Amino acid sequence: MGKRNVSADARFDFDSIVIGGGSGGYAAARTLAAAGQRVAVIDGAETLGGLCILRGCMPSKALLYAAEVRHLARHGVTWGLRPGKVGFDFASVMRRKDEMIRNFAEYRQGQLADGRFSLVRAHAQFLDAHTVQLNDGRKLRARNFVIATGSVVRPNPVPGLDAAGYITSDEALELKRAPKSLIVLGGGAIGIELAQFYQRFDTRVTLIQRSEHLLREFDHDAADVVTASLRAEGMEVFTGTHLVGAERLGPKRKRIVFQHGGKERRVEAEEILFALGRIPNTAKLGLANAGVATEHGCITTDADMRTTARNIFAAGDCTGPHEIVHIAIQQGEVAAKNILAGRRRAKIDYRLLINVVFSDPQVATVGLTEHEAKRRGIKFLTASYPFNDHGKSMIMDVQHGFVKLIADPRTGEILGGACVGPHGGELIHEVVVAMAKRMTAAELAATPHYHPTLAEIWTYPAEELAEQVAR
Ligand SMILES: Cc1cc2nc3c(=O)[nH]c(=O)nc-3n(C[C@H](O)[C@H](O)[C@H](O)COP(=O)(O)OP(=O)(O)OC[C@H]3O[C@@H](n4cnc5c(N)ncnc54)[C@H](O)[C@@H]3O)c2cc1C
Repeated sequence: MGKRNVSADARFDFDSIVIGGGSGGYAAARTLAAAGQRVAVIDGAETLGGLCILRGCMPSKALLYAAEVRHLARHGVTWGLRPGKVGFDFASVMRRKDEMIRNFAEYRQGQLADGRFSLVRAHAQFLDAHTVQLNDGRKLRARNFVIATGSVVRPNPVPGLDAAGYITSDEALELKRAPKSLIVLGGGAIGIELAQFYQRFDTRVTLIQRSEHLLREFDHDAADVVTASLRAEGMEVFTGTHLVGAERLGPKRKRIVFQHGGKERRVEAEEILFALGRIPNTAKLGLANAGVATEHGCITTDADMRTTARNIFAAGDCTGPHEIVHIAIQQGEVAAKNILAGRRRAKIDYRLLINVVFSDPQVATVGLTEHEAKRRGIKFLTASYPFNDHGKSMIMDVQHGFVKLIADPRTGEILGGACVGPHGGELIHEVVVAMAKRMTAAELAATPHYHPTLAEIWTYPAEELAEQVAR
């Protein structure tokens, strides 16, 4: 920490302390420091950078891109190419990812250490609402806090799995060799992305999902397209299962036993990937000492990102339920603005919540899904259009997927969008912008689109909705 900062108020070492220097914490600290506050960021990690950069979004997407390049190369016959066998060097695939991650992490580490705030390398625990105890023995006091301590892998509930041994996404992103076979437990975004990555590097993958559908938070039509695509690539996918147990059969042989369709089934593989979710990293923070309440481990906040203690705010995965980077950043900024604000309070707004799964086809949504609209009793109109009937995607030989818009039946305002198909994570942003400006389907339909592009596919459901609203 070098020299000790002296807050304007001598009772405190800092105006604000941010616990956790990942996406949410860094966003909060940057905003507070830019407004002239004396800020400390406390982070106990051995390597700084946060989950997204070190073990989350960036390494997984770097690997998925490599898998996509190989997949396309192998399927070049469609376009008249003769690729033959497209081999690979798994160590090189991992090495390129490692280099990217080192660069991204160094950049973030530089930002954390550039002097705008005091960087404290320690674990913190609350003693009271204004004081934290560090694991190096020091105590620090601040007027305000932002808690941004992220998430950890959920404890394993599967009998026998601890003894059998398993890997989590952390290890799956670091393996030196692709296993010959892999059982993936969990059909959420992380499970599906890593399952497809290994499948495309010749691992025989079995995916086991407890719910009836993969990606259970998405509309079923989207999940069904992904399920069909994974199966078409040779993955064995089981949904609607109940996990009974696991056992180790030998040094490279593990078994999962599960119920499916009224029968007990057994699958064996070299490795098991546990992808049954993450939980907020809040258990060791001494939150009760500070009067900060939690619900199922998630720090309770209001729309200001304020916790149940008036001077303590929270951001990112530790607040749940959206484990998404741009949300962590928004929440960090809202928390910081409200520490600074006085009366003009900032509020977090999930109207434009974006979700992307980087499978192939990608699944992306913004705003309302049909499922959510029905659950909340919101009246809506919907229109969709398939990629296999659209010029640019036919050039790309896209066989599966669709785009869908959801609109207010009275005004035509776009309330949500979904895209299951090529570059879905990019394409969805057209709807994000339209929704940010509260555009109607008619306005989106009338917006010029270059031909032939993937983006122009949005004009079809937009036109259909505009007609429905006009009737
Ligand atoms: C495999 C995988 C892929 C993902 N892909 C995507 C994606 O494509 N897109 C997306 O939006 N999201 C993705 N996510 C989720 C995303 O990574 C997280 O939502 C995001 O990184 C959370 O940021 P955060 O600031 O809340 O926490 P983190 O980045 O985890 O930061 C928390 C920090 O707090 C520190 N800390 C914890 N406890 C203490 C303590 N007591 N004292 C001091 N410091 C402490 C930790 O050391 C850590 O640096 C992915 C996650 C995983 C696991």
